[in-house]
Formats: sequence, C-alpha cells, structure tokens
Amino acid sequence: MATMVSVIRAYGVKEERILAAMSRVRRHRFIPESCGEHDAYGNHPCPIGHGQTISQPYIVAYMTERIGCKPGDRILEIGTGSGYQAAILAELGAEVYTLERIPELAGHARAVLAAEGYGQVHVRCADGYHGWPEHAPYDAIIATCAPDAVPRNLAAQLKDGGRMVLPVGTGFQQLVLLERSGDAFHETPDLPVRFVPMVPGRCGEA
Ligand code: SAH
Repeated sequence: MATMVSVIRAYGVKEERILAAMSRVRRHRFIPESCGEHDAYGNHPCPIGHGQTISQPYIVAYMTERIGCKPGDRILEIGTGSGYQAAILAELGAEVYTLERIPELAGHARAVLAAEGYGQVHVRCADGYHGWPEHAPYDAIIATCAPDAVPRNLAAQLKDGGRMVLPVGTGFQQLVLLERSGDAFHETPDLPVRFVPMVPGRCGEA
C-alpha cells in the first residue's frame, strides 16, 4: 500500500488529500487479491471478473485529481466495476452515484462498499449512457469505460462549472476533460489510456 502511494506520487499526482485517500481505501477488499501474477497494490490494471478490468492505481488517482473532487460534491460515476474508484471519491467526502450495467458487479460493489463503511455511495444497475437524471446536476462526472464520443446526454447532467473526465475512442483512446460554462462545454484532450468500452444496453443484457 505504501509503495503504491509512493509510485502514484512519483508519477506526478500532487494532491495530498488524494494520496491520503488512496492509502486509506483497502483495495484488496474490492479487487481479487491475486491480480494476475501480481498483487492488488501493484501499479497495473487488474481483472475484476466478467471480462472487465480496473485501471492502474495511478490512473484512478489522476482522474480523481482532474475532477477536483471536494467534500460535499455530488459525483456521478459510469462503470462501478469493483467499486474501488467510488470508494476513493467517498473517502474524499463526496456523495457518489454510480452506474454499472453488469448486475453481478453492481451487487458485489454494493456489498463491499457497505461492508467498508461507504454508505454515501449509491450503486444502481443501469445503462450509464442515460446518466442518473434524478440526482442531477452533478459537480463532476467520471466515466471508467470508454464511449466513441462524449455522450452529450451525460454532459447535460453537469452543473454549471462542473467537470467531467472520461476516456474516449475505440482502439486509440484518450482521456478528455470537459468543463461546463453555462451552455458551453470546453474540451481538453489529455493522456492516452486504455479502458474497456462503454457498452449500451439495459442492466443485465449480454
Ligand atoms: N471504476 C471501476 C472500473 C470499472 S471497469 C472500478 O473502480 O473498479 C468499467 C466498468 O464499466 C465495467 O464494470 C463495465 O461493465 C462498465 N460499463 C460498461 N459499459 C457501461 C454502461 N453503458 N453503463 C454502465 N456501466 C458500464
């Protein structure tokens, strides 16, 4: 755990609050202890079942830093997966709404988040392309699966001044940072990345 945090720091994540949150969340409770031939705290992606993967801890920290997560923020996540990213946001004091399309992953994340004491994370099994309009607008939106283009529908659920970070593209993917100012959206391309695709369809559909 201490090594994981020092690697993230060495990669350039500066915010101490985020490094502290990364050192508090028990990553091995969310993802399988044996991650391939590595352990849960190595700086590499891990399989989380059902053909899905969680990105390396550095990318989790980096995306968290990009949205500028503050205590009291209301945050929407698309792609709950293991629940780890949601736990980091909750550890930073956010109220988290997270959507996952695979029911088994949503169920597992809900159970682990409750057991680890993250009652302010709300998990719903649904298609993230629609967002979660009942709780909009959000201070920030983070997607951990990649659509072909920024879903306008999701951007519309941001508050004025809100920020969204997401991987975009098929094959070549890039993180995109989106900032809302009134009805305008300012897009900044960021790091090249590799995420699983954002797949449309109802909860539980193959
Ligand atoms: N943030 C996760 C990593 C998730 S991997 C973690 O911390 O573990 C990406 C997840 O996005 C996968 O679980 C995948 O099933 C989910 N996903 C893909 N398309 C989706 C969609 N349209 N709506 C909701 N979830 C989706």
